[in-house]
Amino acid sequence: MSDANIIDGKAMAANLRADIGRRVTLLKEGHSVTPGLSVVLVGEDPASEVYVRNKGKSTLEAGMNSNTYKMPVNASHDDVMAKVEELNNDPTVHGILVQLPLPDQVDSDAILNAINPDKDVDGFHTLNVGRLNSGQDAMVPCTPVGCLLMLKEVIGDLTGLQAIVVGRSNIVGKPMAALLLKEHCTVTIAHSRTRDLAAECRRADIVIAAVGRTRMVRGDWIKPGATVIDVGINRIEDASRKSGTRLVGDVDFDEAVKVAGAITPVPGGVGPMTIACLLKNTLTAACRQAGVPEPE
Ligand code: NDP
Repeated sequence: MSDANIIDGKAMAANLRADIGRRVTLLKEGHSVTPGLSVVLVGEDPASEVYVRNKGKSTLEAGMNSNTYKMPVNASHDDVMAKVEELNNDPTVHGILVQLPLPDQVDSDAILNAINPDKDVDGFHTLNVGRLNSGQDAMVPCTPVGCLLMLKEVIGDLTGLQAIVVGRSNIVGKPMAALLLKEHCTVTIAHSRTRDLAAECRRADIVIAAVGRTRMVRGDWIKPGATVIDVGINRIEDASRKSGTRLVGDVDFDEAVKVAGAITPVPGGVGPMTIACLLKNTLTAACRQAGVPEPE
């Protein structure tokens, strides 16, 4: 069997970002609305700072307004809440993203649920979770949306396919499963207590790995020809690199690529699509708040 088609998330994300940029121009010209995304970053976690910088850069490149509010690591719960309220009340801000994790003194659930659900471009507000799970229009978390777009690009119609989502977090696993169900897949959600995970995976036409464990999903867990989406981001030591480390996924890529029909690499797969989908959600939020249709 020949090696799998390697899904180029970077190229797909570049196309999506270009399309969003084009539609932002139409929105500005047709309705004088410039989508605005505000990001709240509490503390100085280096990984979060990189993510936030990349998000800001992509937002500006798409022609949107971007603001980042950096708060000290000892900011109080009330300080962060006050910032969210301020952004909720600012009509030039259409999307609000509070970068996780937040320091211990800040109640993350309360903060996420204080964001106006219409501006909740991360899709973490309980109302959006409920809307997604009851089949209504919702803001859907960016990573699962990106995974779904890749699956549709590679497979087309997903109806009737067996899918397994390994991981049941609120950010990735659960919304991913809800999206696949909406596409009429037969969905298994696996987690740390699942018995015989390998056997569950072997039955699946679609494997989504969102665990956070280096190369946990092995090649012989994959059904020949299956589509594998690797969400995991794990940093491992690599003496051959200048930095001394590199990123790998939750799937053993070298093994799985020999069996799968298509597979995402790490890096260059799901990651770039996540940021592109944040822009997509921000455009949708801006159009809804302005009461205008999304430009085609
Ligand atoms: P969480 O830690 O919140 O969830 C991990 C899930 O994996 C849990 O449901 C856990 O099960 C399950 N799990 C842990 N160990 C096992 C095991 N041995 N067998 C089966 N299931 C297991 O992680 P996230 O969902 O936030 O993130 C998952 C990965 O995706 C991480 O590597 C993260 O960095 C990455 N990520 C990547 C993004 C991107 O843009 N590419 C965006 C978001 C995340 P249980 O519930 O039973 O504990």
